[in-house]
Amino acid sequence: MHIQFSGASREVTGSCYLLDTGIKKILVDCGMFQGSDFNEGKNHDNFPFEAKEIDVVLVTHAHLDHIGRIPKLVKDGFTGKIFMTKATAELAVLIWNDAYNVMTYDHEKFGYPVLFDTTDIAQAQSLCHGIDYTIPLELADGISAVWKDAGHIFGSAFIEVTVNNTKIGFSGDIGNKDVPILKDTQSLSDVEILLCESTYGNRIHEDIDTRRSAILKLVQEGTQKGGTIMVPAFSLERTQEFLYELNKLSEYDKSLPKIPIFLDSPLAIDATKVYKKYPEYYDDEAQKLHLTGDDFLDFFQLQITYTRQESMKINQTPGPKMVIAGAGMMNGGRILHHAIRYLSDPNSTLMIVGYQAEGTLGRRLYEGAKRVNVHGNEIDVHCTVKALGALSAHGDQKKMLEWVGTVKDSLKEVYCTHGEPVAATELAHRIKDNYGIKTYVPEYTEIVEI
Ligand SMILES: [Zn+2]
Repeated sequence: MHIQFSGASREVTGSCYLLDTGIKKILVDCGMFQGSDFNEGKNHDNFPFEAKEIDVVLVTHAHLDHIGRIPKLVKDGFTGKIFMTKATAELAVLIWNDAYNVMTYDHEKFGYPVLFDTTDIAQAQSLCHGIDYTIPLELADGISAVWKDAGHIFGSAFIEVTVNNTKIGFSGDIGNKDVPILKDTQSLSDVEILLCESTYGNRIHEDIDTRRSAILKLVQEGTQKGGTIMVPAFSLERTQEFLYELNKLSEYDKSLPKIPIFLDSPLAIDATKVYKKYPEYYDDEAQKLHLTGDDFLDFFQLQITYTRQESMKINQTPGPKMVIAGAGMMNGGRILHHAIRYLSDPNSTLMIVGYQAEGTLGRRLYEGAKRVNVHGNEIDVHCTVKALGALSAHGDQKKMLEWVGTVKDSLKEVYCTHGEPVAATELAHRIKDNYGIKTYVPEYTEIVEI
């Protein structure tokens, strides 16, 4: 039996692992490479395996860097089944369509190639099967898989595959502690081999206890200035977490300034519908709110703007007001239309709530740029720029070590993946030092016998 590391090896995107049991070829995740141009180009390379020889695909969660190449896999000849949690199955289709829209836009504007089309998405969707957490799924005689809650995004899981009594764990992405709405990460069972993400393998997060009061303070300050509070937010998870906190501040603490708040992202609106469909995925606090009849992703100040026309009407509402819109790093999406209008307004506020990658407009503003170009418009930045620190969707080194440590007795080897080389190597060292377990940081396309 062997594993091929077909993505997210010594980098954080492109998750894809091939487990060849000798009987079945099982692919775990099939994500897009994202980031630099070189990496994005890698998406168009041939897979380091034959797509049509893959028997089954198991998916951990709906982030693009874990599912983005599945329609390409289908285009290249894969015809088997694709298994994931029910929420992930619905979110995946939204994410694929959104990626397709971005790719066709880039194609028309810059001539970039498109990785797949709507036929491939429809075909991929027809192969998807939604399953429940913790109920083992038999894949063949002696081979089964089980999905357990990773607490990373809605519907996210780590997967344990059993092959003739040998258990192999695939971490997917492991969530931070105390994330709103989501349950905490479940414990591993007695896995012998673990492929473990290491995004923050060399980092300890700041305390997030003060998240809600920090949000309130920024909204109050922005309201006092009287302009528009722009919130660029990732449409999946970060937006819903943010709405959850606003709902608490508005309906329970009664402290949120009574300004109109617009959710101006079709993808976020569609994703929010999926959250509402699966209350069984909620953590205790969210369950309690749900049982009292509170729709915690909605409150009286919130207005949904789905169509372009509705979105354009936001301009007619006088400040103070808040607009939550994608993309989270301001590298596209409706937030740019608001940015063109309000970045130069000294009464407006840009509230950064997520990680801003290098090279993005969000990062430039975060670092204090005084003049930026948005859609060909040169804009002088006069608004206030504020950031909420250290809200992360990934567990830090401490959380990862605790999670791995609970099964230190059964573990024989840990492969650190889904991390930059420094992060992956540090987590590998820590696991080895703390627990005496053999660790390894594999390279892209490397094959290991297990
Ligand atoms: Zn993820």
